[in-house]
Formats: sequence, C-alpha cells, structure tokens
Amino acid sequence: MDRFNRFRISIEEYYSTHKRDLPWRKEAPVPYEVWLSEIILQQTRVAQGTPYYHKILAAFPTIAALAYAEEDKLLALWTGLGYYNRARNLQKGAKQIVAKYQGQLPEKYNELLNIKGIGPYTAAAIASICFQEKIGVVDGNVYRVLSRYFGIHTATNSSAGQKEFQNLANECIKGTKHPGQYNQGIMEFGALLCTPKKPNCMYCPLNDTCHAFNTGSVGALPVKLKKGKRTKETLHFGVVQKAEKMALRKRETDGIWAGLYEFPQLNDAPEHGQLLEEPVLHKLSHKDLYCSFWAVSETEISGDYSFYSKEEVQELGMPIIIADFVAKRL
Ligand code: SF4
Repeated sequence: MDRFNRFRISIEEYYSTHKRDLPWRKEAPVPYEVWLSEIILQQTRVAQGTPYYHKILAAFPTIAALAYAEEDKLLALWTGLGYYNRARNLQKGAKQIVAKYQGQLPEKYNELLNIKGIGPYTAAAIASICFQEKIGVVDGNVYRVLSRYFGIHTATNSSAGQKEFQNLANECIKGTKHPGQYNQGIMEFGALLCTPKKPNCMYCPLNDTCHAFNTGSVGALPVKLKKGKRTKETLHFGVVQKAEKMALRKRETDGIWAGLYEFPQLNDAPEHGQLLEEPVLHKLSHKDLYCSFWAVSETEISGDYSFYSKEEVQELGMPIIIADFVAKRL
C-alpha cells in the first residue's frame, strides 16, 4: 500500500470512531447548512460558533430567506462573532445563488468558487461533503497534519506552499469512496489529535510512518513565514445618553465594521468630556485597536446619528466591543 492510501485509511478509521456529533453533520448533509457552518467556523471555535449557527438558521431557514433578509438583522445575529465580512459575503452569495442557481448551491467545486465568499477551502468542503467530489480541503488543521506526516517544510502561507499542500491533499483523497468523510476526518484529526502545541503522538495511529515524529521535528512543523508587524490604532467614541437612550450611527464606509452601528467617532480625545473607562483593547487579525469611550454633550458629536433604547439596540449589528459597552451602560 502506498503512503497516501495508508494515511487516508488511518484518517478515515479515526474519523469513524472519534467524530464529534455536530448539528450540520447528517447522514444526508444539507448543502446550505454545511455552507453556513463552514463560514461561521472559519475564524471561530465550534463551541462558540454553534449557538450562532442555530440562531441564524432559525432566522433564515433557506438560502432564499437569507438572500432577502434585512442586512441589519443578519448583522445583529452575527454580533459577537467578528469578521463581519463573512456575514456580508454570505448574504451576497445567497443573492447570487437565488439569481443564478434557483436558490440551490451548485454542486461542482469550480462553480462553487464563483459564489461570493466561497474560496477553495469552503468549495472543497461543500463539494466533498454534499456532492462527493474528490477535492482535498486545506485549512490550518490540514496544513499541520500533512506537513508533519509527509515532512513538508514549505511555508504554508507562501503561494508555493499553498499549491504544494493542495496537490498533496488532492493526492491523498483520490483513493477514497467517501470524500466528505475523509475531508472531515483530516480536519478532525488535526483539531483533536495532531494539535498545534501538544499532539498526542504516542497514541497516534500514524506514528510508525510519520516523518515529523520519527525525525523529532514535530515542533518545527508546519513552517509559516513571519507576517509584518501589527499596527496600533486609537479610536475615540463620543457617548451621548438621553432618557435611557444612546446615540449610535451606522458606519456606511467600507472596512471591517461597514454596516454596523457604533458611537459617533471623535477626531481626538475631547477637551470637554469624561473618560468613562480605561481604553479597551480590541485585537483584530492585523492590528490592535484601543477604544476610548467619552461621555460628551451632543454638541461634540456630528454626522447621522439617532438615539436607541435598550430594546432597539438588540436589533442592531454592532462590533462586540460596542455591544459590550452598551450592555453595561444602558
Ligand atoms: S505522530 Fe504526532 S505529529 Fe505525526 S501525525 Fe501523529 S500526532 Fe501528528
């Protein structure tokens, strides 16, 4: 048996005995549910993402319902998950699917790639899990498992690395009769056994043939190129409270918080204002945002804002840092 098949069979066996019971993992998987779960789990742990999955699916039970939803309502349900572009793209994708594919996700990997927000990873997951296409998924877990087992030292975040790992993933999946099981299996194997810090090599069914384990290089793999320095930014928010209501405005411009509600921003720390708490650090993938909240009078803020009550803010999508502050003060 060649190494690819040996590897694949162990992964499939592992998955059949260790797979977690998750709501979107069904005998006959529903493409919309798989898509939604994959988008939510892109930057989010299963335990944190699952309640959001249930909430969003209950509010929008079909792709058409998601396509026609009020963006504010979707973003309100997404509040706390972060990376709001995922939600906006999900809805753009749903609109495309309604317009071009009668409200059903297309079945082929190459067609799935045309949908907004669906990249190679999500397309491979949907095509394999729902439509049995043999395309290997490649995510952080897969990079780790493949690099360690096959001894690949190419950086996973280089374009050469991405190609090499995709080819290898496609090679491994070739021999399977159950592409969806295999793909979910390798991700599960990486999430539960071949973990970043303390992989359970002693109990690993692949340890006899694993390159990293047998050469003492488990800690050195996968290789990742160092990213540029993180940047820092300070935001000053003006908090105006009137009769149990707070002034909020919708951020219309592009950017990570586009379409979400926030306090009106001030250009600088205000001369006449009271700092309501120590600046709060909000970590984004590429920068550290320090947010200061100032109690100011209405003359200090400008732009298109309105006043919202405690009940009304429940219906608005907000960055979590704003939602937390509002929840404490209203
Ligand atoms: S032996 Fe260790 S490093 Fe190799 S695949 Fe198993 S868990 Fe991962």
